[in-house]
Amino acid sequence: MAKRAKKGSAQPELAQDAALAPLDGLSDLLDIPPHAPDEPFDAAPDDLPEAPPPEDDPFAWPNDDRPLVERVEEDLRAGGTLSRSLPDYEERKAQIIMAQRVAEALERDQHLVVEAGTGTGKSFAYLLPIVRAGKVGLLSTANKALQEQLFYKDIPFTQRHVQPFEAALVKGMGNYLCLDHYNEELSFQALVQTPGFATVQRMLDDDDWDGDLDLVPESLPADVRAKVAADSDQCAWRACPFFNQCYVKRMRDRAREAQVIVVNHTLLLLDAEMGGFLLPERDVVVIDEAHHLEEEATRAFTISVTPGRVTSLLAQRKLREVADERNQQEVNSANADTWEALLRVVGPMARGRQHLREPLQQGLRLGDSLEDLAQSLQRNRPLNMTEKDEQLFERLVKRTRTLASDVRQVFRVDHPDERVYYVEMTRGAGRRAPQPQVSAAPLGVAELLREKLFGRVPTIATSATLAIDGDFSFFRSRVGLEGSRDVTLPYAFDYPEVARLYIPRLRYEPLYGPASGPYLDEMGEQMRSLVEASEGRAFLLFSSQRALEEVYGRIGADLEVDGYATLVQGRDFARSELLRQFRERERAVLFGLKSFWEGVDVPGDALSLVVIDKLPFDPPDDPVQEARVARLKAEGANWFGAYVLPNAILRLKQGVGRLIRTRDDRGVMAFLDKRIQTKGYGRQVLLALPPARRISDIQAVRAFFDGAER
Ligand code: SF4
Repeated sequence: MAKRAKKGSAQPELAQDAALAPLDGLSDLLDIPPHAPDEPFDAAPDDLPEAPPPEDDPFAWPNDDRPLVERVEEDLRAGGTLSRSLPDYEERKAQIIMAQRVAEALERDQHLVVEAGTGTGKSFAYLLPIVRAGKVGLLSTANKALQEQLFYKDIPFTQRHVQPFEAALVKGMGNYLCLDHYNEELSFQALVQTPGFATVQRMLDDDDWDGDLDLVPESLPADVRAKVAADSDQCAWRACPFFNQCYVKRMRDRAREAQVIVVNHTLLLLDAEMGGFLLPERDVVVIDEAHHLEEEATRAFTISVTPGRVTSLLAQRKLREVADERNQQEVNSANADTWEALLRVVGPMARGRQHLREPLQQGLRLGDSLEDLAQSLQRNRPLNMTEKDEQLFERLVKRTRTLASDVRQVFRVDHPDERVYYVEMTRGAGRRAPQPQVSAAPLGVAELLREKLFGRVPTIATSATLAIDGDFSFFRSRVGLEGSRDVTLPYAFDYPEVARLYIPRLRYEPLYGPASGPYLDEMGEQMRSLVEASEGRAFLLFSSQRALEEVYGRIGADLEVDGYATLVQGRDFARSELLRQFRERERAVLFGLKSFWEGVDVPGDALSLVVIDKLPFDPPDDPVQEARVARLKAEGANWFGAYVLPNAILRLKQGVGRLIRTRDDRGVMAFLDKRIQTKGYGRQVLLALPPARRISDIQAVRAFFDGAER
C-alpha cells in the first residue's frame, strides 16, 4: 500500500532527460508544464514535519473486520450510513453493485472496467471503497466539470458524511500563480492597473486561496495570465526566493499527504510517461470518462512543433545575451525556411490535417541549428551566476536541446510504422493568427499504456460508453488493458417508460458533394417536424460542419419565424454561452457539432429531443485514423468491424446519452441514418443503444409529447 512520504523516501531514480524529451512540445499545445520541478513527488522536503499520530476516528465502522464489500454496501443502502445523514436519500441498485465490484478489485489488486450509465452515481461508487479501504487513490477525469464536481462536491460530501480523509486537486503547473513572476510584474502593473491583476493582489491575502488562477473571479487577460502563471522553464525551484511560500510547492505538499488526489488525464499520462515521477505514489488509479483514454494518450504521446515554439525560445533574454549571434540568426532563418518549405510540400492549409510523408530537409537543418545554439549557450555559459540564475540557465539549455530533438523527430519522418506525421493549422493560447504545427503521433497507444500505466498499478476504468452490447474487447484492445474484470451495470433509468427511439423510414442514405441535396432536404424536413412535435427543447447534432450549415440554411429561418430560439454552434456564441442560453430560453433549438455530443448536461424539460444526423464515423482522411485503418488492413484484421464501427457506436451512445439525465426526464432520441435499417451492422448499432421503445412514425412522436400515446 502507498505510504504517505517520510523524510528521505523517494521513488526509483529516473533518467530525467530521457523521460522528458518527448513531452516538452506539449507545453505549447496544452499549457501544461513540460517537466516537474526537480525532485520526485514523494521525496519529502527537508522541512516537512513528521505526520502526527492518527487520532481516534469517530467515523470508523464499529466492526472493522467486516469485508470491504459489506461495508460499502452498508454505506450506500437504504437505512445505511448515507441515508441516516440524508433524509431524502434514495438507494441506487447500480451504484451499490459498482461499489461492491470496486471493493473486490481493491482487495484483489485487480484491474476493473465498469460501464455505468448516467444516473448511476459512479463517483461515490469508486470514491467510497477507496476511502473505506484506506488506500491511496489517484482519480483522473477528462474534463474540468467532472474534476470540479469531484473535488468541490463529492469529496467534501464523503468527508462529512462517511469518513474524514485528506484530498488534493492537482493541476498542471501553469494553472498556479508564480510569486516570483508576480513580483516582477508588480511595478509594471502599478502603471497600467489591469483590473484582474488587482483581484489577484487582493486574493493573496486570502489564506484559503490555493493560487489556482482559474478561481480568480475576474478573469485575467491572457497576456497577463501568461506572465504571472508558473512555468517550469522559468522556475528555479529550491533556488527561488519564494520557494517556501510557492503555491506549486504547497500543492505538491498537499498532494503528498492526501489519500485521494484528483487529476486530469493529461497529467496522469504525463506521469505515466515519466515513470510515476510527476504525481504521488498511489495504490489505485481510477480513470473516469475512460472512453477518452485512447484519444488523450495519443495526444499526450504526440510530439509537436510550431514556428512559435522556436521564436518564443529565441525571445528569451538570457539566450539573446549569451548565445552567439550567428547561431541565433541561423536558427531564425532556418525556422523561416522550414515553414515556408513545409507549406509548399503539403499545399494550402485550410481545415483538417495533411499527411507529411517525406523527411523535410529544411526542418532537419533547423534541428541542427538548434543543437548548435544549445552548444553555443554551453560554450558561453556566464561565470559567477547566482544559484537561481544557474538553475534557470540549465533549464534554458535543456529547453533548447529538447526542441532540437523534437524538431528532428517530426521532420525525419523515419518511423512510419510506429508514428503518423501530419501538419495542421492551430491557434495556440494567446495567438490571434493560426500557425502551422507539425506532429508525430503514435500509431497505437496500447503498448505504451500497458507498460507505463496498467503494468504498474491496479486501475479502475469507467464510463457510460465502453462496451458494445456488453462486450469490452474493443476498449481493452485499443488501450492495452489486459486481465481486467469487466462489468456492465443495469441502466439507472426506466428507458422503455421515459424515452422513445425514433427511427423513421427514410428515402436517402447519407450522401456527400453535389448529389447530397435531396438527402439534406429530407433531413431538414425530418428535423423540422421533430422540433415542432417537441416544441423546441431540442439538440440537433451533426457529424460535420457542412451538414449543420446546409440543414440550418434549409430550416433555420422558418423556425425563427415560428418563434423558436435557434442557437448555432460556431456562429453565435462560445459553447458555454450557447448552453446557458439553451437552458434559459423558451423553445430553444441548438444546432451543434462534436463538442455537444458529450460532456453536456441539461437535465429536466429544457432538453426533450436529441436528433442525430448520422452514424459519427471518423473522417476517413484524418491521417491518424487513416494510418490506423491501414495498419489493421495490413494485419488482415476486420478494420471496419473491429475499429471504425465500434468507435462510431460509442460516440453515438454518448450523443443519445444527452437526453435522459435524471429520473424525472423524458424525451425522444431520433436517429436519421437510413443505414441502420439497410446495412448488416444496423442491428449491432441498435443493440448498443438504451432500451427505449422504438417508433418510426412522426405521429407517434407527437403522441408521446402530447401524452396521448396508446
Ligand atoms: S518556486 Fe518560485 S519560480 Fe517556481 S513556481 Fe514557485 S514561486 Fe514560481
